[in-house]
Amino acid sequence: MKIYNTLTKRKEDFIPLEEGKVKMYVCGPTVYNFIHIGNARPMIVFDTVRRYLEYKGYDVNYVSNFTDVDDKIIKKANEEGVSAQEISERYIAECKKDMEMMNVKPATTHPKATQEIPGMIDMIQSLIDKGYAYEVNGTVYFRTRKFAPYGKLSHKNLDDLRSGNRSLLVSGEDEKEDPLDFVLWKPKKEGEPAWPSPWGDGRPGWHIECSEMSKKYLGEQIDIHAGGEDLVFPHHENEIAQSEACNGKEFAKYWMHNAFLNIDNRKMSKSLGNFFTVREISEKYDLQVLRFFMLNAHYRSPLNFSAELMQSSKSALDRIVTAADNLKHLIEGAKAEGMSESELAHYEASEEYVKKFEEAMDDDFNTADAISAIFELVKYLNTHTGAENSREYLEKCLERLKTLCDILGLVIEKKEELLDADVEALIAERQQARKEKNFARADEIRAELLKKGIVLEDTREGVKWKRA
Ligand code: AMP
Ligand code: ZN
Repeated sequence: MKIYNTLTKRKEDFIPLEEGKVKMYVCGPTVYNFIHIGNARPMIVFDTVRRYLEYKGYDVNYVSNFTDVDDKIIKKANEEGVSAQEISERYIAECKKDMEMMNVKPATTHPKATQEIPGMIDMIQSLIDKGYAYEVNGTVYFRTRKFAPYGKLSHKNLDDLRSGNRSLLVSGEDEKEDPLDFVLWKPKKEGEPAWPSPWGDGRPGWHIECSEMSKKYLGEQIDIHAGGEDLVFPHHENEIAQSEACNGKEFAKYWMHNAFLNIDNRKMSKSLGNFFTVREISEKYDLQVLRFFMLNAHYRSPLNFSAELMQSSKSALDRIVTAADNLKHLIEGAKAEGMSESELAHYEASEEYVKKFEEAMDDDFNTADAISAIFELVKYLNTHTGAENSREYLEKCLERLKTLCDILGLVIEKKEELLDADVEALIAERQQARKEKNFARADEIRAELLKKGIVLEDTREGVKWKRA
């Protein structure tokens, strides 16, 4: 299996540090709002990497953090007049719901930055003790130039960085020894959450969070560290500097980065305001369609979001679901017989598509080619299965198709159709629950209907509903 490593800019053979095991860290979202579909790309991509590694027999320890202390969270909390913790807890819960709808498996551990402050303080102290960090007026900085390999991930040269950063020299940050130094600990500001430390009350810088959480849950050396390509510099470069300076060991062997999800060929981002949340998309489409759309491109290629591409993803996914559904019907009507010799031969011949699928995935997780292999399998199964086949053969064929789809996290169960009368009954129950101020039940019904493809809209004339 080969993985493209940002560190070496090459595809390399994957050799884990410990046989049969993979330690993997994926930088998670900053939780101050619903996640957008750009944030969903690394979630879906690296969940698929994990699923494939598990299929290959690796025991994967998958850690993905929530950044739950940050300027944007504090700003939102101040706007709403609630605590930063209330904001982050709310959006962590919403993010987990989105992940479930996208069939992204929960991580082995989802650490939260605010729960790991003592470990971060220890790490910062150790960097100071080793001469890699210094304190000025309650702020602790990393002494970037002291870490000689700085720039090795982003392939940047320190002197170029320095000239690019010249503005910092005149921007009042003159307490730093060098403009390239970055913050490990910042002092408390009025109205902000803060924790005690040897340098006074304050909070950690963003980069140290990941260095510490990765070390605590996976150890000093890990196999794969991943995130979106915007994290290469400075976030991951700084993580490397902190972890390697502190631990004296190579931090991560393979660095994987997904390309951006764009809209109208511009990066989708909260600051540009050109984004869709995952929740908005879930009102129009089953999120399996979003997952299929993402995986239909290679993770290192930019991907442009459009309604047409979502529509064609929906039709393509339907073809797989229909094939699985046909097999299910055939199984129900089939005689409980074992495979005949010719069936066995056909079943063995379909192995070719499994091999193609694996070859694609072994080549730096080429999910687009892996999906093509699934379509070839679907075509083969459509022409080599029928009412005359034994149950064992049909079951094995369906299992083969399901196994491949499951690696991509695609659920190929046909959604059970709700009758209009059932929908009306649930809507009536929801209205009643709202009258009784049982909003939890009302929300539950809305979510239940959404899962079954029914979107509710509260209008002045009452509740309207449509099938997504
Ligand atoms: P953030 O909450 O901004 O720290 O982002 C969380 C994750 O989403 C990071 O791995 C980002 O690189 C990734 N990300 C943010 N926007 C996009 C986008 N438009 N396309 C792909 N990945 C993104
Ligand atoms: Zn990180």
